Amino acid sequence: MINLVSDTVTRPTPGMLQAMMEAEVGDDVFGEDPTVNALEAKVAALFNKEAAVFCPSGTMTNQIAIKVHTQPLDEIICDEYSHVYQYEAGGYAFNSGVAINLLKGKYGKITADQIEAAIKPEFDWLPKSRLAVLENTCNKGGGSYYTLDEVRPISKLCWHYGLKLHLDGARIFNALVETGETPQAVGEQFDSISVCLSKGLGAPVGSVLTGDKAFIKEARRFRKVMGGGMRQAGYLAAAGIYALDHQVERLKEDNGRAKKIGAVLMEMPYVSDVRPVKTNILIFDVKPPYTADSFLEKLAEKGIKASPFGPQTVRFVTHLDFTEDMMGRVIKVLEELE
Ligand SMILES: *Cc1c(COP(=O)(O)O)cnc(C)c1O
Repeated sequence: MINLVSDTVTRPTPGMLQAMMEAEVGDDVFGEDPTVNALEAKVAALFNKEAAVFCPSGTMTNQIAIKVHTQPLDEIICDEYSHVYQYEAGGYAFNSGVAINLLKGKYGKITADQIEAAIKPEFDWLPKSRLAVLENTCNKGGGSYYTLDEVRPISKLCWHYGLKLHLDGARIFNALVETGETPQAVGEQFDSISVCLSKGLGAPVGSVLTGDKAFIKEARRFRKVMGGGMRQAGYLAAAGIYALDHQVERLKEDNGRAKKIGAVLMEMPYVSDVRPVKTNILIFDVKPPYTADSFLEKLAEKGIKASPFGPQTVRFVTHLDFTEDMMGRVIKVLEELE
């Protein structure tokens, strides 16, 4: 089976497994796991932040960020496609007691003007606009990304109005290998950043949340209360360190393969739209009589697995375990379908 369901399906590489086996560990709840400490220091330094905290998932890092930045009855502002709204089970309301103000962006990207128009004036009967969340790359937007030139007016605006700005950077490195921008420069534009190690970076588990010292101190308390305090987590952190050292540049290959498949799909008579392919996510619509489900069944018969993303919409995600050879096979199947 060729699996294009998500970039979370990857297995650790031999080098990564070796690094995990050799990890020095301790009890991280007591702050005594040297490998977790090294990973946190590494991510903080990468984004030019003061501190970081290692968590089991990107959902947890996002939820903790929302919790630390807000009070109940506040409001968060984000694009309607955002992971924090779509795929975190409504956790912003459950964990933080906040309202959400959804904006209609373009391929998941919003602008400073849209945020400015969404910020609520202070009245007793309105929630307080407190936090904006950007997603880079944007999953449901088809892997679209913000450049720093697009982010700068947003951070300026947010800080002018006293809002915090959080980056859901689950796939930030997929964007950075395209733009050539540095994580340090990204770090300057956000109060907090969440990075997934278990997507394109290829680690089995884990995300890191980074920000200033006071923010991360609070984040550690909420990680504990959410059940995310792990003990000899250094075995997992070692995978993250290995990924950051060895598996960032290769994200360009994933992006390139998605673009190549996207170009093929654009020529296919059964495809009505392909979202602009910017990184490793490819979202497209199939024409009737196909539905997403019937199209995916056809692919499954040919040994290719992917996800439905709407009644007519299909998502492919390229990743570490999707090789050049597999890409050739996928393109052949797509060209032969009618
Ligand atoms: C995957 C993902 C997350 C976090 O997901 P987990 O599965 O909880 O690690 C957050 N944001 C985006 C955009 C994602 O794609």
